[in-house]
Amino acid sequence: MIAKNMSVCPLCGGPLKYYDSVKRVVRTKGRATKWIKIRRMKCEKCNHVHRELPKFIFPYKQYEMEMILGVLEGFITPNTYGYEDYPCEMTMLRWTAQKSQLLLWKQNSKGGCFK
Ligand SMILES: [Zn+2]
Repeated sequence: MIAKNMSVCPLCGGPLKYYDSVKRVVRTKGRATKWIKIRRMKCEKCNHVHRELPKFIFPYKQYEMEMILGVLEGFITPNTYGYEDYPCEMTMLRWTAQKSQLLLWKQNSKGGCFK
């Protein structure tokens, strides 16, 4: 998993080349989902295939970044209109527990991979 516009492999520093595109679903507000296209880049040195994350997506998260940030900053709670039980409280608690990691990713998303 790499940030968008990364041109070298985070594992070995080798050059990355476009490999193919895959589709994945992202959850957004109002219980809606949307499909986005993700590019996969292949390292010419170690042959590892990396998924390129768009700016508005956190690694390993199904929800879009805007919504997760809303929860982290306290704008969205289980009592917020339009967000009752969605995402569920457990999910919100999990995001809050990962807050520093998520914010760090956002700051560093110009380069680096998510561990
Ligand atoms: Zn590599």
